[in-house]
Amino acid sequence: MSNDPEQHEPIISLVDVRKAYQAGRRQVQALGGIDLRIERGEWVAILGPSGCGKSTLLNLLSGIDRASSGEVNVLDRDLTTMSEERIARWRGRSIGIVFQFFQLMPTLTALENVMLPIQINARSSRNTRAKALLERVGIADLAGNFPNELSGGEQQRVAIARALANDPPILLADEPTGNLDSASGQLVLRLLEETWLDGTTLVLVTHDINVATYASRVITMRDGAIVEDVRTERRSVAAVAARGS
Ligand code: ADP
Repeated sequence: MSNDPEQHEPIISLVDVRKAYQAGRRQVQALGGIDLRIERGEWVAILGPSGCGKSTLLNLLSGIDRASSGEVNVLDRDLTTMSEERIARWRGRSIGIVFQFFQLMPTLTALENVMLPIQINARSSRNTRAKALLERVGIADLAGNFPNELSGGEQQRVAIARALANDPPILLADEPTGNLDSASGQLVLRLLEETWLDGTTLVLVTHDINVATYASRVITMRDGAIVEDVRTERRSVAAVAARGS
């Protein structure tokens, strides 16, 4: 599949989306009227300082959180009207999510963490698929390790394998390199790049302008609003790694 956004249909569409949180007696306006259309096959970086609403926006796209008003359409589903239960089932099939702090289950091995969300009935098939996913992220040999026996970079690779469990058309990543040293961060970015090159639409939240340069489109947020939205000449993670810079 090519990643030329001109040729693809919208996969995410937000119209005048607002999100307010109640913090004690104070109301915090986290998002103030977001209009956004993302095409299938794009790699979108959402860039902005801490507190500008990036995670809130990502949580609306996955249906983890609900908008206060406006339209949120993802993969032809209207997330503002769907029940929690239907959203949860839909999310498991449709959206992979990678978090800054990995969010692995500490009592499960790497393999079991990846098996958990795989939507196949037979345990042996889930096992085979989970092994293949760990192979794909380069840590098949660590399948039996628990999260606390893995480095941050290794944990994030398990988390990426888990996010790809059901081959989702959309991958959301919230500061995926934010808690990693630069070498592990580059490895994680390469895996995300490979996934994107395979045709997955990637939305990556970051406050790091360097990470944003790998995206094909950079959206900058300030104070709950989009202040800039540019399609860019992206850098290739693989090429940067090969140059060693
Ligand atoms: P970012 O991801 O850019 O750091 P967030 O989306 O986490 O920003 O937060 C945007 C704003 O919403 C901030 O002012 C934050 O304090 C507030 N906020 C986020 N989540 C909640 C919550 N659950 N309750 C109250 N306020 C929140």
